Amino acid sequence: MSLLVVGSIAYDTVETPYGKVEDSLGGSALYFSAAASLFCPVNVVGVVGSDFDASKISFLKKRGVNFDGLYMESGHTFRWGGRYYDDMNKRETLFTFLNVFERFQPRIPENYQKAKYVFLANIDPELQLEVLDQIKKPKLVALDTMNFWISGKRSELDKVLKRTDIIVLNDEEAKELTDEFNLIKAARRITELGPKSVIIKKGEHGAMLYHNGHFFFSPAFPLEKVVDPTGAGDSFAGGFMGYIARANKQDFRTLKRAIIYGSTVASFNVEDFSFKRLENIELKDIEERVKIFKQLMAF
Ligand code: AMP
Repeated sequence: MSLLVVGSIAYDTVETPYGKVEDSLGGSALYFSAAASLFCPVNVVGVVGSDFDASKISFLKKRGVNFDGLYMESGHTFRWGGRYYDDMNKRETLFTFLNVFERFQPRIPENYQKAKYVFLANIDPELQLEVLDQIKKPKLVALDTMNFWISGKRSELDKVLKRTDIIVLNDEEAKELTDEFNLIKAARRITELGPKSVIIKKGEHGAMLYHNGHFFFSPAFPLEKVVDPTGAGDSFAGGFMGYIARANKQDFRTLKRAIIYGSTVASFNVEDFSFKRLENIELKDIEERVKIFKQLMAF
């Protein structure tokens, strides 16, 4: 089933206790695509500047990611810089240069407009609404957002939420969105805003799903060495949505399994910088790790 993602395409500069990379490939749309394309074809909508080296995304094209919706504008590609310390659950944003992303007006190519599964990565809610207006009849819309939009563009975000089936956000964002410190209460409150299903990510402590009055809790896959957490959230979302689009179902059991697959893809992503790890894995690697995951959770 066709899966569409709209989000950022970036050059990231990232420093962690294990090293530093400069101007390496990143962005929410690409981390999402690298993960989701392990499961199904993915259509990307995003913008890059004239400095963008298209050969860097050839590994994604080979894997069935379609870039008909990639627009090249004159100027620089979006750049983001971040630093992580020993506690990798926290990061410091060093800079955000929107560059061509600042004037981004998502145009959905005609061949994407019938997408059944849509992921609105973390971009301005006004743009998320523009995307939804261009999609014919989506079966499932999932959304990511961040504190910046929760506090800065709440009324636009509320409109997006009303048209969203699943929201994926982290614990801090869930608290800010609902003014609720208890995550169980926060999840219930979020469903009153629109989404039927809520996924709250808790970094290395896993993720929680609330769907139709039922809860599911998943740990993160235990890793001894996390090299670079950048893109963990987006690769989780990509694995999650890719699994759902491939299954073409959205019942509680499928959503639970999708959480495990999303967590597994994210666990590969954080084992190296940028796309070094995701570039070199296949679905069978995911399946092997899912088996270990299953044993860890059985009692
Ligand atoms: P994650 O670690 O999953 O939150 O995603 C990190 C990715 O998001 C990086 O590759 C950044 O390029 C991208 N990113 C960071 N800040 C923003 C922003 N304000 N808007 C869009 N993308 C961003």
